[in-house]
Order: sequence, then structure tokens, then C-alpha cells
Amino acid sequence: MSGPSSPTADVTPDPAAAATAGAGSSAATGEASTAPTDDANTLDNLLAENRTFAPPESLAAKANATAESYQQAADDPEGFWAEQARALSWGRDFGAVVDWSDRPHARWFVGGGLNVAVNCVDRHVEAGHGDRVAIFWEGEPGDSEQITYSDLRVRVAQAANALTELGVSAGDRVAIYLPMIPQAVVAMLACARLGAAHSVVFAGFSAEALRSRISDAQASVVITADGQYRRGQAVNLKDAVDEAVAGADSPVQKVLVVRRTGGEVTWDEGRDVWWHEVVDAQPEQHEAQVFDSEQPLFILYTSGTTGKPKGILHTSGGYLTQAAYTHRVVFDLKPESDVYWCTADIGWVTGHSYIVYGPLANGASQVIYEGTPNTPDESRHWQIIDKYKVSIYYTAPTLIRTFMKWGADIPARFDLSSLRVLGSVGEPINPEAWMWYRVNIGRERCPIVDTWWQTETGAIMISPLPGVTHTKPGSAMTPIPGISAKIVNDEGVPVGHGQGGYLVIDKPWPSMLRTIYGDDQRFVDTYWSRFADQGYYFAGDGAKYDDDGAIWLLGRVDDVMNVSGHRISTTEVESALVSHEAVAEAAVVGAADDMTGQGIVAFVILRGGAVDDGDALVQQLRNHVAKEIGPIAKPKRILVVPELPKTRSGKIMRRLLRDIAENRATGDATTLQDPTVLNLISQGLGGNK
Ligand code: ATP
Ligand code: MG
Repeated sequence: MSGPSSPTADVTPDPAAAATAGAGSSAATGEASTAPTDDANTLDNLLAENRTFAPPESLAAKANATAESYQQAADDPEGFWAEQARALSWGRDFGAVVDWSDRPHARWFVGGGLNVAVNCVDRHVEAGHGDRVAIFWEGEPGDSEQITYSDLRVRVAQAANALTELGVSAGDRVAIYLPMIPQAVVAMLACARLGAAHSVVFAGFSAEALRSRISDAQASVVITADGQYRRGQAVNLKDAVDEAVAGADSPVQKVLVVRRTGGEVTWDEGRDVWWHEVVDAQPEQHEAQVFDSEQPLFILYTSGTTGKPKGILHTSGGYLTQAAYTHRVVFDLKPESDVYWCTADIGWVTGHSYIVYGPLANGASQVIYEGTPNTPDESRHWQIIDKYKVSIYYTAPTLIRTFMKWGADIPARFDLSSLRVLGSVGEPINPEAWMWYRVNIGRERCPIVDTWWQTETGAIMISPLPGVTHTKPGSAMTPIPGISAKIVNDEGVPVGHGQGGYLVIDKPWPSMLRTIYGDDQRFVDTYWSRFADQGYYFAGDGAKYDDDGAIWLLGRVDDVMNVSGHRISTTEVESALVSHEAVAEAAVVGAADDMTGQGIVAFVILRGGAVDDGDALVQQLRNHVAKEIGPIAKPKRILVVPELPKTRSGKIMRRLLRDIAENRATGDATTLQDPTVLNLISQGLGGNK
């Protein structure tokens, strides 16, 4: 494996340079011509952003990663990753760092052996940090619990003993369908300890979604709860498991049930067991085995934003190495003093890598919150930050835009001075949402790390480093040390600065997916066939380099619009709309148009306090887009809507909006958060034609 590219010279952060905070705003690029572009292979580059923010000096002075890391990793990538791997505790040393001979199947830290759970728990106790709080757990109804690393060691050992008693052994698959309670983390670690792969299914999913995932992974045990708290209500969870297991094409032997709400549940005597009866009675010691570096750790299904979810398989040594390294450098984690909080659910990859494996491998103290951000009211997150003195906060653009909609006066009432690093993940973050986050949550002191990665990449790939990078609102900036990514055109040729195309990863990386579970051909076809000649991993996202070589994610390749021969990114038009003071959130799609090929249709949600005065507002917004990025991107239609269709992980599903805009029956909406949203929107559209 040869060296990953270092960040382009002009983006290499210069700690001496002063921030141009607040100076300028996204400037118009002038009138765009309506003639087709010469190079139809790339994306038009419309939105310009000139603001940059230097890292705070105090943070830079003590940062975990320095500018030299990029060069060090570029000079000797294998040596670099070996060094990161050796920060973990190995029961058996590895030989080759990576074996890429059977591409696209990679093996990392070849021949090495480790126990992932021991790395996340026991070794911190052995190092004398047993009294450090691992988890500050906050239940939605207001109950709370503090769990030290010593406590966690006992709980994981007991759960591992219990799972063994229930018949689980290395190589088995265990489905986990739990709310955000401590047992969810314990269950995942207990599986890891036994070398069994977990398949966590988001507890908001239906019985049907759970059934298909149990069947696909051939899980033999399901771990669940009687119910969960959602928006102040106790709702049953176990019924869905009963329904899923009854119809599953898998021999589920046991269902292990945590008592959370105390609600009524139906019980199958031969199959169901209570966690508090089976786990709590177990011995507090468990002898952990060492597993191969390539032992499967988990299967996780993608969010399903673009179609049917894929069962992504991750293994142990490489995954844990990159999860831990990125968590340490991207968030600048200081385990002795930081309180970290990632607001994701463990049902998503962010919860796997940045609640469970990364933070715990690093011995972090973290907050885990069970519920929704508006229970009992819309200030819940700020209360939690204040209560636990959270210093690192990692969330998603969908939530930031929701906070914008609720209004800046809500966080303004709280003491957020403990915060020092803010993160974003899941979707492109619009520059104005980034600025809102910086000003209203970070109080203009905290660097923001916009982290690009996927379920498939396992860990962060492209992101600023908070003590090094001069950030730009809306840009994920550059690949982290040790990672090599490129933006290429249709032929796989890298595009230049100021141009857009397809994002690819051109070198293997430690936490890369190993396959799609049970469907290796789909793995090869989906990710490795588009640029098979070059051997690039095709991420499926559009991206561009700005004039300085910083990377901007432009949304899904499938969503790119083609207007009069111009290939226009959904993200850029959405960001232009969100930069208008009345707009909190926007989704745009290209709908078939006789004149222009596709016409831009925009769906917008207004900010708290903004008034919808009908046509006047629509006209204003259309002109605003024309001014910000040029007349070619002016939406043909703009609809003010109360909600947007989102996946359960909060991502906008543009393909459904495209169906609506083109008057088609909407496609597969099973991963949708709230199916009634589609009706609301189509009704609105009918009235606006
Ligand atoms: P599916 O693959 O089933 O359609 P999904 O892609 O939404 O679902 P995830 O793996 O959860 O499933 O999401 C990864 C995708 O999220 C990326 O490919 C990208 O489109 C988007 N994404 C994540 N983080 C960022 C970010 N910081 N900036 C821009 N886009 C991001
Ligand atoms: Mg995807």
C-alpha cells in the first residue's frame, strides 16, 4: 500500500494565521450562463464560501494531533497505522499491517489477536482508572445513573456469562433491539467479549424491519426490553420482537428482556428470560479469549436513505484501531478531563463507533441520553450539557436545523461554557447551519469538526482536526492522517481545484467494511465496480474541491440535478436557501421538465418567528438563490412545508420528494420516520400548482 495524499498545501493549517471570523458571507459567483458546460463529467461549482476560522490557540497548543501527523502518515502509512494499532492492547502481535492481495477484500493487522471488550473496559481498570465514570446515563423521565469503568467491567462480565449460558458462542450472531439504556452498551460489549457478532437494530424500527434483519443475519438470540420511553410516554417494545421472531426465517432460541418501563409483556416461557434474573445472578468474573484481528465484530444495516439497507460487516482489529484513533484526534479527547456526548442512537454506525467502541477504547467519560431533544421541553440538550459540564458535543445537521427552527433564545438561557469542541455528522451541513451552531452553541469559541464517513467506512475519513485545521463553514476539509480520498470525473480521473465529481477512496483503510453480510457479490458491485479499473472505493457521494483544495460534500450522486446541461448539487441549492433568514431547512430535487431536462423543486421549512406570506416569500427565496449562486439554480417551484421526509436517523429522503414532484406514487418508504409527512407534503403541492 502506498502513501495516502497529504492535504493540499493551501489547506495545510497555518496556526499563525488569524481567523477571519465573521468576515464576508457566501458570495455570489455572478451570473451563470445557461449554456451546457463543456465538461459534463463534473459537477458545477456554484456556491462560494470565504469565511475561515483558526483553531483556538489554547486548544492548538495542547492538541492530540499536530500538522505533522499528515506528513508522518503520508510518508509511511503502514507504519502510521501500526503505531495507532499499538495504542490498543493485543493478546497476540500482528505481522503485516495490511494484506490487500485479495482486493477488494482487505485484511488488517494480519495474524494479530485481541479482545475488543477487554480493550474497551478491563484494560482501563487494570491501568488504575476503575473509578473513572465511563457513562453518565440520563433517562428520558429524569432518572440517571453513573457507571464507572469498574462497574462496567462487572456488568460486561456478567452479561458475557449469561449469554454463554443462553448458548451464544464465538461466531454466532445476536440481534440487539434496545433503547438508549446502559444495557445496550453492555450487551454489545458482551457479544464482543465472546467473539459473537452483534446486529443492532434501531428500536424505532417496526417488527417487519427487525424480522428481516434477524433473518438476514441468522441471529440465534435477541436482546430487547419490555418497553422504552419516547416523548414522555412508555411504549411497548417486546410485542415487536414477538412478532418479528414468529415470522423470522432464523432459529431464535432465546429472547433476553431488560425491564425498563415495567409495562405488561407477553411471555414465552421456553424462550424468554429476564435480564435482571439471568444476568444479575452471574459471577462477576469472565475469562476473555483473544480473537483474530479479522473476527467479525458486528453487522449493521445502512440507514436506507437511497434504497434497501445493506448489512455491512465490520471486523475487530482494524475497526477498533481507526474508531479509537479518530475519536482521539478528531475530538481532541482528554480522557481525564473531558465529558463527551454523542447524541446518536446506538442503532446507527455513529453510535457504534462514537458511543461504544471509540470512546470506551479511549477510556472516555461520556453522557448517554435515552430520549428525544424536546422532552420535557426543547431545552433538554442544553440542560444536560450544563448538568454534566459536557465539553465535546457531537450531533447531526438535522438536529442543528431543528434547533434553528425552535429558535436561538432557547440555548441562550443556558451555561454552555464547558463546551470546547463541536462535531457534526450524517449529512452535509449547510454553511448557515454551521454558523448558527458556532455562534449559538459554541459561542464563537469552539472549533466545529464536520466529519464525513459512512456505515461502510466504519470510522471518520474526512474531517478537520480541531487543533490544526482552519475550518470553513460547510466543508469537511481534508482526509484525516492515514486516509486517502480523491474527487474524480466519470472516467476516474482526478478533477482540479474548483471542480466537482465523485468522491472515491483510493487506498484501503483499517476500518473499511469487509463485505455485505451474505452477499459478497453485492459488495463488489456496489462499491468496487464503478471504478474497477482504478481499484477505487466508490462512496456514492458527490463532492468538489474549492479553490484551496478543501473538500465539500455535495450530496448523493443519485440526487444530482441536471438543469439545461448543468449538473447541480442539491446541497448547494439547499445551502443557498438556508442562508436566507427565513429558512431553517430545505430539500431540493430535480423534477422532469420539458424545457430544461430537469427543473428545481424546493421544499422549505421556516425558522422560528419567520412568517409565510405566500408568493412574496417564494419570490424572495427564488431571487435569493439567484443572487447567492446564479440564475441557473433558481428553483422553479418552492413549497413551504411543515416537515420533510426523513429516515429514522434524520436524513432527508430526496427520492421520495422527487416522486412527489413528478406526480408519481412514492417508492419504498419503509425506513421513513413518519409516513404521514408524505401526505402533508403532497396536499400542499396540490394547492400550489
Ligand atoms: P443507504 O446507504 O442505505 O442509502 P445512508 O447512506 O444514509 O443509507 P449511512 O451510512 O448512515 O447510510 O450514511 C452515510 C452517508 O451520509 C454518506 O454517504 C453521506 O451521503 C452522508 N454523510 C455523512 N456524514 C456526512 C458529512 N459530514 N457531510 C456530508 N455528507 C455526510
Ligand atoms: Mg450510503
